[in-house]
Amino acid sequence: MSATVQNVDLHCHSTVSDGVLTPSEIAARAKANGVDLWALTDHDEVSGIPQARAAAQDLGLGYVTGVEISVTWAGKTIHIVGLNFDEKNQGLIDGLAKTRSGRERRAQDMAADLLNKAGLPNTYHGALKYVGNPDLISRSHFARYLVEIGACASVSDAFRHFLTEGKPGYVPHRWATLQEAVGWIRGAGGVAVVAHPGRYDLTPLALDAFFLEFKALGGLAIETVTGSHSLDQYEKFTKIAYQYGFLASRGSDFHSPQDAEVDIGCLSALPQLVRPVWDAWIPA
Ligand SMILES: [Zn+2]
Ligand SMILES: [Zn+2]
Repeated sequence: MSATVQNVDLHCHSTVSDGVLTPSEIAARAKANGVDLWALTDHDEVSGIPQARAAAQDLGLGYVTGVEISVTWAGKTIHIVGLNFDEKNQGLIDGLAKTRSGRERRAQDMAADLLNKAGLPNTYHGALKYVGNPDLISRSHFARYLVEIGACASVSDAFRHFLTEGKPGYVPHRWATLQEAVGWIRGAGGVAVVAHPGRYDLTPLALDAFFLEFKALGGLAIETVTGSHSLDQYEKFTKIAYQYGFLASRGSDFHSPQDAEVDIGCLSALPQLVRPVWDAWIPA
């Protein structure tokens, strides 16, 4: 890698969580789209890392380890991305296992809620068809099933009508604390990054409290350019990163070729104002 590395994509999902491509298929797609440095960030799970790393090596694609941890903060679900850590670290492995353990229970509660409030039967088994492993079942799998049976026109439509707060099918769930997630990542030698900060339903005051707490815990960066942000949010969160002294990260949040807002490696460059989180990993 050299200092001229530009196309960095540090956020995407494979079949190991709620994506539809395997880690090696995503590596090939990233390479074809011109990515120089890549991280796979499956939800609460690092078991895709060996395949991702091997595929990246075969392709001559720059690679760092990644994960996206679900956190409950002030009653809201927030995602923290961990990057460039040792995936064999026991504290991280145990923490992620604990975080995953509530998924099956939540999915069964979601299916009961969908049946009771929307009259949609058997959505648990329908969603399970898309994932195989109940430990990894997520709202995206329910969304795909709701599209399959014609209850919704698209995955985003399914989230809007059924799977977000206040809608039938939404079941509040207690994930890791912010302190735990940042602690697991840092304990494994990694960097903690706030994923798509523009996506959370927090008041400016609450967002300020969140960023200050994240920083105090040792969080170093926030995503500024992400497939989950609108173009004006690229600027907004770049300024916020600058104000709080965070590094900036960039990632498509790619899940599938069909539903992608932004394909892997196809994002705007980071605005110059803030140092990229990967600067320290790339020898000059
Ligand atoms: Zn996320
Ligand atoms: Zn994600």
